[in-house]
Amino acid sequence: MNTPCEIIQDLLPLYAEQMASDASAQMVEVHLAHCAACNNVLKASKAQIQAPQCNLKPLRKIRLDIGKKRLLSVLLAASVLAIILLSTFSFLTAPQTFTYTQDLLEVVEFANGEALVVFDPRVTGYKATQYTHPDGRVHIDISAWTTILGRFIDTGAQSYRIAQSADVVYYCSANLRTEDKVIWSRTQPDSGSVMTLASLSFSYYALIAAGALLLFGIVLIALRKQPRKAGVVWKFFAVPLSYIGAHLCIKGTVTISHFPKRDFFWIAITMVFWYIAALTAYTLFRSFRESRRCLPK
Ligand SMILES: [Zn+2]
Repeated sequence: MNTPCEIIQDLLPLYAEQMASDASAQMVEVHLAHCAACNNVLKASKAQIQAPQCNLKPLRKIRLDIGKKRLLSVLLAASVLAIILLSTFSFLTAPQTFTYTQDLLEVVEFANGEALVVFDPRVTGYKATQYTHPDGRVHIDISAWTTILGRFIDTGAQSYRIAQSADVVYYCSANLRTEDKVIWSRTQPDSGSVMTLASLSFSYYALIAAGALLLFGIVLIALRKQPRKAGVVWKFFAVPLSYIGAHLCIKGTVTISHFPKRDFFWIAITMVFWYIAALTAYTLFRSFRESRRCLPK
């Protein structure tokens, strides 16, 4: 008995779903025993039955196997852990500048014209910036601080040797209401006091980041029905998002800085992990949402 392939192939969908009558099924099986073409058609229709009926083609690319999901979850958890550790370490080592008081430091002068600033043992670190003032004299600005971590570690008394080229040394309290204090001068004490201004760069960065976040946020909302394009925009959206997240972790809501280099270093390194976390979280979110839509119940 040689049934034409067309008839068999008409029956194959019913046969694949085990809905064909016994007589039809038997006829199909007899034919399949010797026809490779119909066997292929059967295989294809079985695959179609097993595949979820999902028309979200762009999302199909995102569907991840379990191994990849596990890897992304580990990456996300590791990034979040890194953010927490970095923020904590930055917090514990954040300089808390001393306002000038009589007992904060002592200037010891030597016969050869050199001088030494000896800090109180409470001081765990100091910064000295040397520059030539427009009046031609060499100025040194000093700030001293402690950190939360420093209170538990005995670093001994810190000292700073005033270079022979220096003319005047100021102590800067890094406090907007306190004027810089002349603590040593090679010649006559300086006439007036100056104020050291905190760096405002972080205010501008935060403003730019907030603007970019708003802009990309609007684009993301507009593209919510186009997952593939939204995925691309998310990579840009995640940059200001990571910056703002990192800033909040390191500086809280404070946007001015007396230690811009230090703060920028910690914000930048934390931002990297924020970015990794933002991308993995987004990929996982889309993958889980798609699985819920497409996987058979
Ligand atoms: Zn056939």
